[in-house]
Amino acid sequence: MSNTCSPLSVWARNIAPSPTLAVDAKAKALKAEGKDVCGFGAGEPDFDTPQFIKDACAKALSEGKTKYVPTPGILPLRKAIAADCTARGFRNITEANVVLSPGGKMSCYLAVVATVSPGDEVIIPAPYWVSYPEMVKLAGGEPKFILAEDTNGFKITPEQLRAAITPKTKMLILTSPSNPTGAVYSREELEALVAVAVEHNIYILSDEIYSFLTYDGVASSHPATFSERASELVITASGFAKTYAMTGWRLGTIVAPATIAKAIANLQSQMSSNCTSFAQFGALAVYEQPEKARAAVAEMLECFDRRRQMLWEGLNAIPGISCYRSQGAFYLFPNIKSFGMSSSEFAAKLLEEELVAVVPGIAFGAEGYIRLSYATADETIRKGLERIARFCKKLRGE
Ligand code: PMP
Repeated sequence: MSNTCSPLSVWARNIAPSPTLAVDAKAKALKAEGKDVCGFGAGEPDFDTPQFIKDACAKALSEGKTKYVPTPGILPLRKAIAADCTARGFRNITEANVVLSPGGKMSCYLAVVATVSPGDEVIIPAPYWVSYPEMVKLAGGEPKFILAEDTNGFKITPEQLRAAITPKTKMLILTSPSNPTGAVYSREELEALVAVAVEHNIYILSDEIYSFLTYDGVASSHPATFSERASELVITASGFAKTYAMTGWRLGTIVAPATIAKAIANLQSQMSSNCTSFAQFGALAVYEQPEKARAAVAEMLECFDRRRQMLWEGLNAIPGISCYRSQGAFYLFPNIKSFGMSSSEFAAKLLEEELVAVVPGIAFGAEGYIRLSYATADETIRKGLERIARFCKKLRGE
């Protein structure tokens, strides 16, 4: 009799690995082999964490702040986040509504696990961030997609949302600014969507991890601030990774109605306990030294905006590609449908033939597009555009 192992769990078998991390890993492996790869795959600022945040973390470390802290996070940081949310119009927020988690990814996952039961449906607008459907499946829920194309600025409409709601719908996930499209809903557009969800008593997970990264004078808005009822149904997930170039620190935030925040802290107490103590003291510097924080963000934003312009103009100058002018995050999501090939084939060939790493749109539930991150050096953008232009010329048979 063969000594076969038991199969992996249904959870492990049903979960797809992150395609964005896979593209990044492949690009890094090619680079390690000495290949001159232009990487547009990673959703990671290429700046270092601002010095004043690193200093605060190092100080906490040298002062011995290296022990367990309360599961939802250190009190001064939770209080500071509550005060910041109140200043931005959130209602009735105290530290009881705030949980620090090990990354924005974990914040979203905990929000889903705290509210979604087996058989519940969760509405996810596509193109979506790759992890949402997998998180919903891990909770035993069923993802239901609504597709928004570039012709509508990658935004779903209230009519589309209304048509997707069933008696089983438990949650709607909104991401503005969006990964992968960079689209930012206006306040009016978001209010109309939130009104439909509120009317049907559906929870809203508002992923606001890119809320500070907007351009062309547009501002992000926060669904939790829209009405008293909205504040009872919205769970806001965010984190420090993208705004302050802190991807490796693993620090996410959740702001939620108190019963949900408590449930999330309970779940976290059994899964991971507190997130890293001295990292939290580093993050506290953002609120204790707001002028430095604002200056650091402004400097990064200026740089991202210049690159966005360069990449957007360069992509639209390539015959066969059309690119929506996104106003947030650090992604562009150009349309490549005219080449008549799948996004996976396009991305694989582009990497093989021109050493340019992009993520196929199908990974985000939208065929016919590719995602490029412009959180990368100007020189990479310049060189990458030349290569993409040459690749597309070959595809057109010129
Ligand atoms: N939400 C979105 C939309 C994201 O793009 C990401 C990172 N790619 C996250 C959440 C998670 O960020 P982190 O876990 O690094 O804080």
